Amino acid sequence: MPEGHTLYRLARDQSRLFAGRPVHVTSPQGRFDAGAALLDGRVLDAVRSYGKHLFAGFGADTLHVHLGLYGAYAGGAGTPPPARGALRMRWVGDGPDGAGVWTDLRGPTACEVLTRPEVDAILARLGPDPLRPRADGGRAFRRIAASRTPVGALLMDQTVLAGVGNVYRAELLFRHGVSPFRPGRAVEDALWARMWADLVPLMRAGVRLGRIVTTRPEDRARRRGPAEREDAHYVYRRTGLPCRICGTDVRTEVMTGRNLYWCPSCQAA
Ligand SMILES: [Zn+2]
Repeated sequence: MPEGHTLYRLARDQSRLFAGRPVHVTSPQGRFDAGAALLDGRVLDAVRSYGKHLFAGFGADTLHVHLGLYGAYAGGAGTPPPARGALRMRWVGDGPDGAGVWTDLRGPTACEVLTRPEVDAILARLGPDPLRPRADGGRAFRRIAASRTPVGALLMDQTVLAGVGNVYRAELLFRHGVSPFRPGRAVEDALWARMWADLVPLMRAGVRLGRIVTTRPEDRARRRGPAEREDAHYVYRRTGLPCRICGTDVRTEVMTGRNLYWCPSCQAA
């Protein structure tokens, strides 16, 4: 599932290509027919992301998209290809330089038109998004510190923290030597302050690079597993490979429905 940095980039790119001009909105598959008819031909104000959600403003109406596990956007310049298959929504616009642009959405968990109060209700349920300016990490800490749930599960809970997914969860815990099984209430204030201060620039780097790189330059290529092309992560998807710091085999286990990765030595407690 895409993490917050991917949604942030999508919002930025869609704003750059479509905002300020009318958008021709259709639902070739038909499942979003009514919503598409409501938005078609209207001027897009801007698209913004919050956590893993996208909100596209068309005057008083907002298009809400959540990609979920299987959703994806594709797009390009010029004339769009013939619509095929389960194409939930298509946007066609004039583009910033007058050349045509289009984007296709397939397989989202949510694609719906909401009123402002409905958008506010979604935002009210989400924890702070580290990519938003002035996001309050303390709000996440109050939830973490009050919970017996393992911190590895809390980091994935979008009501605690919005935008963090499986990769950032595993890597952030590794970078701070924290066991994913440590109960939230055993995460100290100062530790969380360091984790939050680390997470914000890590996610901003994800926006800049278009992918998640969490290894420090000095740790890259230190202990490389046999099949690794790059050294972007410490533990994510490195099951059975040597920890880059201590050489212990990286372990995996399912937590909150997703594979968790950790080093049992560096993250003992
Ligand atoms: Zn280790």
